[in-house]
Amino acid sequence: MNKSIVKILVVDDDTFTLNLFNRMLANLGFTTVFCADNGQAALERVGSPTDSPDLILLDIHMPEMDGIEFVRHLVRRRFAGGLIIISGEDERTLQAVEKLARSHKFNVLGHLQKPVSQERLAQMLAKWKPPTQEEPEAEKKIYGPDDVFLAIKGGELVNYYQPKVGISTRRVVGVETLVRWLHRRNGMVFPDQFIGVAEANGMIDDLTLIVLTGALAQAKLWNEEGLKLNVAVNMSMKSFHSLVLPELVEGLAAKAGVPPQMVELELTESSLMEDVRAPLDILTRLRLKRFRLSIDDFGTGHSSLAQLRDLPFDELKVDKSFVHGAWNDEKLRAICGSSLSLGKQLGMSVVAEGIEDKADWDFMRESGCDVAQGYYIARPMPANHLPGWIRSWEKSSEKVDK
Ligand code: C2E
Ligand code: CA
Ligand code: CA
Repeated sequence: MNKSIVKILVVDDDTFTLNLFNRMLANLGFTTVFCADNGQAALERVGSPTDSPDLILLDIHMPEMDGIEFVRHLVRRRFAGGLIIISGEDERTLQAVEKLARSHKFNVLGHLQKPVSQERLAQMLAKWKPPTQEEPEAEKKIYGPDDVFLAIKGGELVNYYQPKVGISTRRVVGVETLVRWLHRRNGMVFPDQFIGVAEANGMIDDLTLIVLTGALAQAKLWNEEGLKLNVAVNMSMKSFHSLVLPELVEGLAAKAGVPPQMVELELTESSLMEDVRAPLDILTRLRLKRFRLSIDDFGTGHSSLAQLRDLPFDELKVDKSFVHGAWNDEKLRAICGSSLSLGKQLGMSVVAEGIEDKADWDFMRESGCDVAQGYYIARPMPANHLPGWIRSWEKSSEKVDK
């Protein structure tokens, strides 16, 4: 990177800080630096056809226009450069501002707490890359009810399976079923593009039935090959209205020849209903029939503790947004730690989802978590890839054990 041509704008109401940044940036080889001591002056620069900055270093706390208001103006001006957030505010406030800026799709390199050292600044700037000329990623298409109806009825849904492994033993304990739509023209379509549509249009029960039936048949086949795998299926809370659901699930499992102890139902708490009478009745009876119940995305809903209090869960899945990177983030670490101890105290098995790298794995292992799931272990895969994957995972685990 030719540092001298990167245009940097520093926005801070404090002249001392502006001078300091100017000096540090020059020491680091960044010589095209503009300074502004208020938001309004900075915005004039952002609008300029020739001098619009590639990168803005933004102080959050300014007397006239604060950093949050400034970000709002950047959205209106469709600013496409990078952003580094700076402030003397506490870490959590800085994180909140960073999250806000990211939610506006800005390229946020990170945040720096004052006083900023040259070393930290250099680390942050090293993350900057000139924008590529590629087309921006197309907005995700959300399909209409008619398309989703045809997908369900036309047999275009397939189950993918993602392994869950014991962290201390490295043994594969089961799989989570994740549905995919193999669209004739558009290729693979992910659940966030059609599950909501199915839920809103009365089609989720049909979808669940297909996914569950497929997963049970698959579990039976693996079982016959000697692979004893628990199989988890995601259930929409919208399906917990019919009081005969336990009989339906029981019948399907019996027909497939899979014992209920090997079938796990993952429920997303954010979609748990306000009127808990029917779900409570159904879930408790499923539990009595020895199906396993798992509370999914734990921590993201509004009433997670109430669900834990009321429903007989066997497993707690800490949401991936709290897991990945927790080793390096005080707040996430606190959330993971308390979820883990809550699950343990209530006698549940705790799963960490979103284990994306070795650091995540090591951290959750040291924390005493039971089961791990995530890209670091394996991505969701078609059923026929699983036996081969398990063989290679076990082989690599033998090496780790030695
Ligand atoms: P979920 O139940 O939380 O499933 C985990 C999601 O995280 C999956 O996305 C999985 O591919 C993804 N994932 C796995 N490991 C990692 C990782 O290390 N990092 C990150 N960032 N992501 C990871 P997917 O398959 O796109 O599914 C999205 C959601 O759609 C699921 O979230 C689940 O709520 C829903 N879903 C999937 N299949 C079904 C289904 O058959 N029925 C219902 N009702 N919902 C389903
Ligand atoms: Ca799940
Ligand atoms: Ca989840």
